[in-house]
Amino acid sequence: MRDLYEILGVERGASEDEIKSAYRKRAKECHPDTNREPDAENRFKELSEAYSVLSDPNKRRQYDAYGTTGRNGDPFAGMGGFDISDALRMFMEAFNGGDSFGGGFFTGGFGQRERASRSRKGNDLRLTVEVSLEDILKGAHKTVKLTKKVVCKECGGSGIPAGAKEKPCASCGGSGQKRTVRNTLFGSMSTIVTCPECGGLGYTVSAYCPKCSGEGRIDGSESVEFDVPRGVSEGNYLVIENKGNAGIAGGSPGNLIVFFKELPDKRFNRRGNDLFYRLPLSFSQVALGDEVDIPTLDGEKRSLKIPSGTQFGQTFRMKHLGLPIINSRARGDLIVTAFVRTPAKLSKREKELYEELASFDEGHASEHEDESLFSRLKDLLG
Ligand SMILES: [Zn+2]
Ligand SMILES: [Zn+2]
Repeated sequence: MRDLYEILGVERGASEDEIKSAYRKRAKECHPDTNREPDAENRFKELSEAYSVLSDPNKRRQYDAYGTTGRNGDPFAGMGGFDISDALRMFMEAFNGGDSFGGGFFTGGFGQRERASRSRKGNDLRLTVEVSLEDILKGAHKTVKLTKKVVCKECGGSGIPAGAKEKPCASCGGSGQKRTVRNTLFGSMSTIVTCPECGGLGYTVSAYCPKCSGEGRIDGSESVEFDVPRGVSEGNYLVIENKGNAGIAGGSPGNLIVFFKELPDKRFNRRGNDLFYRLPLSFSQVALGDEVDIPTLDGEKRSLKIPSGTQFGQTFRMKHLGLPIINSRARGDLIVTAFVRTPAKLSKREKELYEELASFDEGHASEHEDESLFSRLKDLLG
């Protein structure tokens, strides 16, 4: 799959205006109405699809983060779902700056205004999903039961029960519009308005579905499945198309936007793709050195050599034991920070030994004059 920015010929950081004008220019050159080259239509579709993602701030952010837009709920599915009618609508939208799809107001290729429609697109839903560090490490498959508007089975979503009749509106003769003539100082002026009788539909209905009162959708629930991408972080989200609320009277459904919330972990702190672990050590371990087992998010313990003379706050980097870097096979590191446990209750014998050791303290006093504890603490606390 080609890079969307490359398709439009813009920089990754391009502004909305730059993206729009690049799309207008390029799409015009290969619009199938004027360009008869065999490849023009494909290029037109490709440009329009690229533009549809990069002109939508949500989709663009998602693309920047994951390199995909999660078509059909599969976060890593490729593109290519755009057909020529989508592309043409995208093109018209970019030029007219008007309503987005489903507004019922674009020209359908014959230069005629479409009649108003009862149907409306369903709205998008947001869902926040809690993910553990393990989910982030391994990726996870989640199933969530969503409370939402679902299509009314009684009427199949139309809002009109079988057997109900649609009659052409007597008031406007079925056009959905009425011409009114007003007399003004400057003469009579005629204006076209939406027919108040049928609301612009051009027809009236003898009965609406009793179950959904004509809305074509009812309160319900649906199980939605999706994958948590490896390496995801808080603030990232997926757009799962068509899993939002059902549309009104047969309108297309909205999308579901899944946000991720990271659950705190008892052992590890996360900073970017690195994990931090606080390792408690005794005086003798840091003074003499030791080999210790470090827990990892993968589950297995890994052995780490603690050199003699290890300082409070000293860090050890264990490569590739952090979290995955999104969209890549690489992983961050596990950073182990040495903490020294000071014994709280000393036995008589211990006290004697520490007192004996204390007589050597003076000899070590000048060892760390150049080091700043403060800078190490700053490292620790981030
Ligand atoms: Zn119904
Ligand atoms: Zn009417």
